[in-house]
Amino acid sequence: MLIAVTKYLTIVGILSLRYLLVAGGYYLLTWKLLKKHIGRFLVNPRAPFQGQEVFELKYAVITTLIFGIGGLHFYFAKELGLGFIYENIGEYGWGYWWFSLFAMLLLNDIYFYWTHRALHIKALFSRYHSIHHKSRVTTPLTSQSFHAVETAINTLIAIIFPYIMPIHPTAYIAFTIVAFLNNVYGHSNYDWVQAPLRNYVPFSLLNSPSVHGLHHEKVHGNYGLYTNIWDRLHGTYVDPGKARAL
Ligand SMILES: [Zn+2]
Ligand SMILES: [Zn+2]
Repeated sequence: MLIAVTKYLTIVGILSLRYLLVAGGYYLLTWKLLKKHIGRFLVNPRAPFQGQEVFELKYAVITTLIFGIGGLHFYFAKELGLGFIYENIGEYGWGYWWFSLFAMLLLNDIYFYWTHRALHIKALFSRYHSIHHKSRVTTPLTSQSFHAVETAINTLIAIIFPYIMPIHPTAYIAFTIVAFLNNVYGHSNYDWVQAPLRNYVPFSLLNSPSVHGLHHEKVHGNYGLYTNIWDRLHGTYVDPGKARAL
């Protein structure tokens, strides 16, 4: 029991530090220090609501505690030999390591698109997703502002991964880092990739701060996570360039 508590607190500590340093640092850098110089990259020029920072930090605490459960599960699954977690990269090689990382991102992308769409059903939205949408203008701090149920839904896919394919712990950590950075950047409200570059592949298919920022602004369309491929395939994609030109 003591080892579980110690491990859980260590994971939560690392995740908290990551959020404060990366999301907090990026927020201070873009929204405070460089604000005057990077106006042309700004997505939504409106101001966050009064007290948004405190609101988002409060929900980030809950999100981090739930992410910690996901991390603890992976640790114990590895220790107890559950699922297909392997320790020696040479067992499957680096080619498989990269494949497993790509597969996790792809599955996460599809899973998030459909669960996110489901969360926009009226009854579910008001109960579980409106917390995240309270931030009509997003900042890096919005990246972990979720209702506990929404975080649990988002964490579930990561808990399932080691049971459906062989995963090395470093590939799993890499996946969580990519997911975290994508979320921070997607909510940052500053898009470094401007037109015409953003109109070309791969940038046009990636879910930029412009694409996700529009989702927060309009509260419909652009449900994707890493890419907007599923939005394009299912007719829910809203082009930020065209939408803002109207
Ligand atoms: Zn949404
Ligand atoms: Zn969002």
